[in-house]
Amino acid sequence: MSELGQRYRSVVEKIASAAESTNRDSEQITLVVVTKNHPDQLVYDLLALGARDFGENRDQEAGPKAKQIAAESSERFNWHFIGQLQTNKVKSVLEYADFLHSLDRPSLLDELQKRTTERENALKVFVQVNMTEDPERGGVNLEDLMPFAERVLSSPGLELVGLMGVGGLGVNPEREFERMAELSGKLQAIAPEANKLSMGMSGDFETAIAYGATHLRIGTAITGNRPT
Ligand SMILES: *Cc1c(COP(=O)(O)O)cnc(C)c1O
Repeated sequence: MSELGQRYRSVVEKIASAAESTNRDSEQITLVVVTKNHPDQLVYDLLALGARDFGENRDQEAGPKAKQIAAESSERFNWHFIGQLQTNKVKSVLEYADFLHSLDRPSLLDELQKRTTERENALKVFVQVNMTEDPERGGVNLEDLMPFAERVLSSPGLELVGLMGVGGLGVNPEREFERMAELSGKLQAIAPEANKLSMGMSGDFETAIAYGATHLRIGTAITGNRPT
């Protein structure tokens, strides 16, 4: 088997055993393979291995990639937009993304509301939470989270699926995952169906599973180092 195939299988097995050891159903956990900075071929190779969810963080790269692959392949799969999204890129991202993990500020919500009113299928969104004191890290502050979530819930073109966290640099991930799980409980008190949690990357996805992650965003552990 190719190295890519070995790494993919190894991550899938680790997810299954982490789920089992924490009494979770691995069917409830989605592996989003982060394909950013890699050529289209990587997506084709991953599709052949059985991957059906892919993550990208820049529209300039993801837009052409998604269009090219849609034109060449009849495979059905999901694109997850996971990076900071500029409002002037919303229109483009809405053409291919099935999920947005990084709904992180009111101006982006305004733009999404404006552009999704006519949409047939609601865009599935995670609200990105900023658990650090650093506003540069992106994400909605804890004190603004519930009112912001309520605004999303009242947007007909958006479906709030849950919360997303990006680990703070140099912070103990367990503490953050635990906080995310608490916040998810609070959110589910007002929106029971918004029960998904996007957290966990190559270095910490097994820990994230223990804290209830439902969407793992895994790049290098599967793809190897990203070309720069
Ligand atoms: C690149 C990226 C990932 C994947 O990171 P790896 O360490 O390669 O697994 C996950 N989430 C976001 C938001 C990213 O930009």
